[in-house]
Amino acid sequence: MNYPDHFDVIVIGGGHAGTEACLAAARMGAKTLLLSHNIETLGQMSCNPAIGGIGKSHLVKEIDALGGAMARATDLGGIQFRTLNARKGPAVRATRAQADRALYKAAIRDILENQPNLSIFQQGVDDLIIEGETVKGVVTQMGLKFFAPSVVLCSGTFLGGKIHIGMDNHSGGRAGDPPSIALADRLRELPFNVERLKTGTPPRIDARSVNFEGLEPQWGDKPEPVMSFMGSLAQHPEQVCCWITHTNEQTHEIIRSGLDRSPMYTGVIEGVGPRYCPSIEDKIHRFADKNSHQIFIEPEGLRTHELYPNGISTSLSFDVQFELVRSIKGFENAHISRPGYAIEYDFFDPRDLKYSLETKFISGLFFAGQINGTTGYEEAGAQGLLAGLNAARKAQGQDSWCPRRDEAYIGVMVDDLISMGTMEPYRMFTSRAEYRLILREDNADLRLTEIGRNLGLVGDEQWQAFSIKREGIEKEAERLAQTWVQPKTEAGDKVNTLVDTPITREYSLMDLLKRPGISYSDIASVKGEAVSCAQVAEQVEIQVKYAGYIDRQTEEIDRLRRYENTLLPDEFDYSVIEGLSNEVKQKLIAAKPETLARASRIQGVTPAAVSLLLIYLKKQG
Ligand code: FAD
Repeated sequence: MNYPDHFDVIVIGGGHAGTEACLAAARMGAKTLLLSHNIETLGQMSCNPAIGGIGKSHLVKEIDALGGAMARATDLGGIQFRTLNARKGPAVRATRAQADRALYKAAIRDILENQPNLSIFQQGVDDLIIEGETVKGVVTQMGLKFFAPSVVLCSGTFLGGKIHIGMDNHSGGRAGDPPSIALADRLRELPFNVERLKTGTPPRIDARSVNFEGLEPQWGDKPEPVMSFMGSLAQHPEQVCCWITHTNEQTHEIIRSGLDRSPMYTGVIEGVGPRYCPSIEDKIHRFADKNSHQIFIEPEGLRTHELYPNGISTSLSFDVQFELVRSIKGFENAHISRPGYAIEYDFFDPRDLKYSLETKFISGLFFAGQINGTTGYEEAGAQGLLAGLNAARKAQGQDSWCPRRDEAYIGVMVDDLISMGTMEPYRMFTSRAEYRLILREDNADLRLTEIGRNLGLVGDEQWQAFSIKREGIEKEAERLAQTWVQPKTEAGDKVNTLVDTPITREYSLMDLLKRPGISYSDIASVKGEAVSCAQVAEQVEIQVKYAGYIDRQTEEIDRLRRYENTLLPDEFDYSVIEGLSNEVKQKLIAAKPETLARASRIQGVTPAAVSLLLIYLKKQG
């Protein structure tokens, strides 16, 4: 049957990429359909029930700044909030929340069901309707055809998914869910470059069987951070404690003795796993000199006894998993409620995508999330938002949009993926962003909300709250700059209690705030009144304290932006440029960078090669 209603955008898969994709498209006013295997698993966290962390929270806050759902759901589902790198500079500070799996999922479902322009249909997609080189719609498992000019594929680890526990393996999208085999086969017929990756998850443990005595407790931070710019502490549910334990020599010996039945070490698994989130068997093998590894014991929720032992992801045989778990302090009598496993799945070379996340080969078909070689909910959500936005813009006959590397971590991720591809699951780090002083999590809204509003992604309520905050920052910065403190006055005496050497001339509050060791809360009410909004105060403090560094980075960005504006036409003939090595020529011909800046970021394209290109372009006039 052909479904009678036509849509502007169809999104396949209701994971983290798919939910942000369909919400973004619908917010843009596109008539959107979300097709997913199971409505009950919308927004499900396949692995660790936690959102954010270093580099990742930057993505979450950018999604939030653009009107997305992930941060809002985190505030409604988070059961422990922390600020990582709190003592380091604001560029690398990151918010992380342990989430109640069920509450998070319920929050996402609620947001989806209340989104205007969005319909949901529970059904797997088996096929794409393609005419010539253009997608027209999809065919579901029961043969139902849905039509739309834009289709966003967000099928996660499900394409050709194969689950491994020891030497046993079976097809699956993740534990308890079916794989997408028919769709994977269909995609392999199309001209995409398909490879395999793998990821894994630890066994889960019943808290009632754990001895917490002697384990190190870890509570969330006070003051408790909030994830969304629109969020508040009042939204947070009850907060809980996590614990820390460690592996030991006995654990390592058990693992080593089980490696002969490990799918990774016997070559059964071919896909490459995440280097930064290795399995415990990988850690023992790679860091053979370490006799202990840390494990964070994290509750999976408020209404469940299940615990997530973060740090012992494994695909070893169940008997080995059982023994290794019981060798760990606190787990001596632990009951495993779900075995750990690894999963191998298909992913597509992201170099076959445009910056809009539309595929180069099939017009109207967009890819987002794990299928582009990334790992993590945050990376998936950010791509989903971008793909959904651009799918809607395509259906509406508008040009695509993608943030630049100096505008957003989303821009860094997409640029990395498209210019360099990936050989292993890609995850975000602050070190990937060369402009990280400007791309902080605290200013994601200042960087992106106005752009999001112009694109049609940001609703009235968020826009109003943002405008009030922005105005508050501007006003307070102006007040600090124009409020002068003279020595030998009441205000001057207050300042002298804060500084080592007494002030002998007039200073503005802004100059005083620039001094190391003086904080906004110290100085703001010395004369006049400090602002009550914590977000405004934080922003003013960071902008004033880091002004010198920020200005320098802004100048560098302006210089490099000239490269961004230097276009390289599609038919550009690199073979005629003298001095370019054949290797560089081949890389440029294969990647077809759209601008000189993008050419400069292709691996192996040296600054010298970029200069040659620039000289050649100048000569051509
Ligand atoms: P998913 O969240 O996988 O969502 C895909 C959705 O698409 C599902 O709802 C599925 O039902 C639906 N779907 C698939 N095919 C079809 C179809 N044909 N028709 C209709 N619907 C379909 N990330 C980390 O950062 N760290 C980790 O340690 C980590 N470990 C992991 C361990 C395991 C075992 C798994 C499975 C994942 C792990 N991840 C980890 C990855 C994390 O879960 C993903 O990065 C993230 O969920 C990707 O989001 P996504 O939206 O791309 O896909």
